[in-house]
Amino acid sequence: MSIAICPGSFDPITLGHLNIIRRTSKIFDRVVVCVMHNSTKPSPMFTVEEKLDMVRRSVSRYPNVEVDTYDGLLAEYAKRYEGAVLVKGLRAASDFEYEFQMNLINKQINPQLETMFLTADGKYTFLSSSVVREMAFYGADLKGLVPNEIIDDIEKKAKLWRGRDGK
Ligand code: ADP
Repeated sequence: MSIAICPGSFDPITLGHLNIIRRTSKIFDRVVVCVMHNSTKPSPMFTVEEKLDMVRRSVSRYPNVEVDTYDGLLAEYAKRYEGAVLVKGLRAASDFEYEFQMNLINKQINPQLETMFLTADGKYTFLSSSVVREMAFYGADLKGLVPNEIIDDIEKKAKLWRGRDGK
């Protein structure tokens, strides 16, 4: 059985992430979406529990996709699944440089681990979680950027953030 791991911080999950997950689910028998606790991205908008819940609701229509979380190195996590392949989305040259470097590091920790890249859908090349957070903070319409199931969650959290910043 072929297994793919789609990792990310998903703060929050966007339609760009979901596009990669859906396409991966057509290629692999089983897909594990792993919500990473990301130490390099400080002050996340959502807690890991909130992110997990939003990712679960967003992928519930895909029967071969499951959701997990991990606090540690991705290359270590991947050792749990024999033969698993990391699948990541590439939006731009900047993603490539970062991913190329990550892949070299992952290979040192786990030499068996392969990474595959899917090019971002043209509709979503501009889309990132940080764009969504920014738009939400200023009260912009989030339709077409994130799964409909999680728009309320983001709007509620953005309201709290605005309150905190006195806006
Ligand atoms: P972000 O870069 O938005 O903070 P993550 O760290 O959660 O998101 O990214 C997880 C994976 O999803 C990475 O491989 C990233 O390149 C990919 N990804 C993020 N946004 C998109 C998008 N709009 N289209 C395709 N892939 C994406």
